Amino acid sequence: MNLAQLLARQARVAPDRPTVFDGLRPWASHAQWAARSAGIAQRLREAGLAPGDRVVLFMRNHPRYLELLWGAWWAGLVAVPVNAKLHPAEVEWIIGDAQARWAFVTRDVAPGLLRGLERQVDAESAEAGSLLSPVTDWRQVPIAERGPDDLAWLFYTSGTTGRPKGVMLTHRNLTTMGLTYFVDVDEVTADDAIVYAAPMSHGCGLYAIPHLMAGARHVVPASGGVDPAELFALGRELAPLSTFAAPTIVRRLVDHAEAAGLGPDDAARSFKTVVYGGAPMYLADIRRALQVMGPRFVQIYGQGETPMVATALSRHHIADATHPRHLERLGSVGVAQTPVQVRVADEQGRDLPAGEIGEVLVRGDTVMAGYWRNPGATAAAVRDGWLWTGDVGSLDADGFLTLKDRSKDLLISGGSNIYPREVEEVLLTAPGVAEVAVVGAPDPEWGEVVVAFVVARPGPSPSEAALDAHCLERIARFKRPKRYVFVDALPKNHYGKVLKTELRERARAGT
Ligand code: AMP
Repeated sequence: MNLAQLLARQARVAPDRPTVFDGLRPWASHAQWAARSAGIAQRLREAGLAPGDRVVLFMRNHPRYLELLWGAWWAGLVAVPVNAKLHPAEVEWIIGDAQARWAFVTRDVAPGLLRGLERQVDAESAEAGSLLSPVTDWRQVPIAERGPDDLAWLFYTSGTTGRPKGVMLTHRNLTTMGLTYFVDVDEVTADDAIVYAAPMSHGCGLYAIPHLMAGARHVVPASGGVDPAELFALGRELAPLSTFAAPTIVRRLVDHAEAAGLGPDDAARSFKTVVYGGAPMYLADIRRALQVMGPRFVQIYGQGETPMVATALSRHHIADATHPRHLERLGSVGVAQTPVQVRVADEQGRDLPAGEIGEVLVRGDTVMAGYWRNPGATAAAVRDGWLWTGDVGSLDADGFLTLKDRSKDLLISGGSNIYPREVEEVLLTAPGVAEVAVVGAPDPEWGEVVVAFVVARPGPSPSEAALDAHCLERIARFKRPKRYVFVDALPKNHYGKVLKTELRERARAGT
């Protein structure tokens, strides 16, 4: 089992159609992609890299990223994709931890040499041109034999707290993840196209696997990132287009559609499916998204440790407004995906009844093999095959999981548990509020008090008194923020997740 076989298979059955696109420009067919990846594999092998060795990909989104990723797999190597926005010092830490031998970079993200490598290749240079030139017949370059439990991807966690850990993902993990997409997320045919707007080094790049399995097209936007106008335009030309979008990106797509006067029919001309996940999607946001862009959303919940696969909320469940519990479902992350079991447990790992809140546990073939060179962290995270996600939530009687927060984000005020997300959901429905994040700040009387950081919409700012009245009408008194801090923007990491640790520090400093 080697993920490189997915490429060889398509190069045999569908060799010639343009498959990879650089913006609107055709970049490679399956056969060209295979010839380039096989060429890369051959030269990496000749340079002495052996199956299991690690190769870093530190690149902005680029069509060549796909060729290098599959080239590494073709040679049996382990890819270590690194977010293009990381500081070189952070990348050097990862290189050291992963004991990576080579790195492929784009010059914009790594203008200098990174320490700790045997070799660094600028993926766009003339030197790379010879390294990456295609072989005449990819069939002549054998794909390295890999077992299902061999590593394919070392996935460094986004590290919102502490040092990132290397999540070990195997060929089996990623193959199962790819196949699951067709059952739990979306049907894909060779006519479809996936556009990589979020960083390919993270979850977004993994969408290449199911789309290659289905022989679909792969589109890297010319901007290399998230430009809603560009994405709508690409969709009009290359439809049917799908994309993965964190909730902040969904919000930008919807803002753009609204500002440009685009409605659900226009959205349908550009997008077949928008898969969202990676961070909480607030009820107010998804309802607005459905109104503006129509029923083209599917939600996934997963984490680096079980990529893309824990639960999914299907297009049908999202759009089924006639269901009596539609709003509850819309606020949930859906039901367990097909290859995994999901349960909610107390601290001893005992199942909790429906409706009770505990930690979310996941078991199945997508769960990581462990953390790289970190048996202590592995033993804490995976017990008897169950992954302890660190997420807190509850299951309903139908198996829909609703996430509350990360366990570390929970706050306790006057002895009562408060889930920041619940307060955020309410504040987001208040007039004039664009974004909000709630954290706890230490308080001598209550232990902790609720502090809300609010980004206002353009126009008159909502007053504290108005927000307080809004909360009083909707949630228990003790959950109301004791303090509001109005900010221009929320601090976020490279994947659009709000940095609650930073906000907690700010809230503490203001106490
Ligand atoms: P990462 O490993 O960086 O992908 O982060 C995974 C974490 O993001 C999960 O453990 C959750 O806390 C959060 N997350 C992922 N998907 C969702 C979702 N659909 N809704 C809410 N939070 C999510």
